[in-house]
Amino acid sequence: MKGLVIKNTGSWYQVKTDDGRFIECKIKGNFRLKDIKSTNPIAVGDRVQIIINQEGTAFINEIEDRKNYIVRRSSNLSKQSHILAANLDQCLLVVTVNYPETSTIFIDRFLASAEAYRVPVKLVFNKVDAYNEEELHYLQSLITLYTHIGYPCFCISAKTGEGIETIMEELKGRVTLFSGHSGVGKSTLINILLPGRDIKTAKISAYHNKGMHTTTFSEMFPVAGNGYIIDTPGIKGFGTFDMEEEEIGHYFLEIFKASANCKYNNCTHRHEPGCAVREAVEQHYISESRYTSYVNMLEDKDEGKYRSAH
Ligand code: GDP
Ligand code: ZN
Repeated sequence: MKGLVIKNTGSWYQVKTDDGRFIECKIKGNFRLKDIKSTNPIAVGDRVQIIINQEGTAFINEIEDRKNYIVRRSSNLSKQSHILAANLDQCLLVVTVNYPETSTIFIDRFLASAEAYRVPVKLVFNKVDAYNEEELHYLQSLITLYTHIGYPCFCISAKTGEGIETIMEELKGRVTLFSGHSGVGKSTLINILLPGRDIKTAKISAYHNKGMHTTTFSEMFPVAGNGYIIDTPGIKGFGTFDMEEEEIGHYFLEIFKASANCKYNNCTHRHEPGCAVREAVEQHYISESRYTSYVNMLEDKDEGKYRSAH
């Protein structure tokens, strides 16, 4: 019997079988993944094979290859990671132009790390009810920028309900992670999408889990149209990971594209002669703000203070 792990309490997993049953399972055997030292071998979003015993208990005995997964490192010194969720179809990054302003550096770092994790991101601009003309103008320029690079953009107001239907359409048939820094209205939005669930509770349990090496509870919540929202306490963005200097440029899609024409193939697009990326910035094919974010990430890396994208 195959199914999808939709809940992980640390000691057992709830699996939704392909024939629509919900079965509580334990793990059979010792799962070790090749490429990652993890405190939990199975996470929400995993596709698994289960065996149901005569007594009615069930075991997970096989896990399918993941298309992606997100992790949190147990601590800075530890090499152990905790897999928060697997097989994400998309991440909706909730951002605001004001109240509070989400900086393009934050957005670009987030997008770059999502690229590294192979999770497609869509940008959800919230609080459109609150913007003045100038802010709306800036909003429009961001939408043009990010749409052009390849990131779909949506405008909503969790307060008035504007644009919410479109978001519900986006959730259908997909596993979605919501992110965004605090104050952008992520909880307000999720409360609309998952009525009856009190997200504040999740926030409190996340606080209690901070710094502890215990397994974090995580869960996927079904939404209409066979989609799921992953709401794991404490996920703000993607975890820390080590990127090589040249790699950073790979995760800025338009920079990567332009870099094919740089004179040196290990060009970091700062001081090297014959750099096609800087040329593209000068010609306004690549935006200044994106280039600034890129350099900002490189510099953090140089100073050894590269932490995470959130
Ligand atoms: P979170 O930290 O991202 O979870 O943000 P919250 O959902 O707690 O919202 C932060 C504040 O923004 C609250 O005071 C919300 O009422 C307010 N807020 C959320 N969405 C909107 C919106 O679309 N328009 C306006 N004007 N305020 C909003
Ligand atoms: Zn270059």
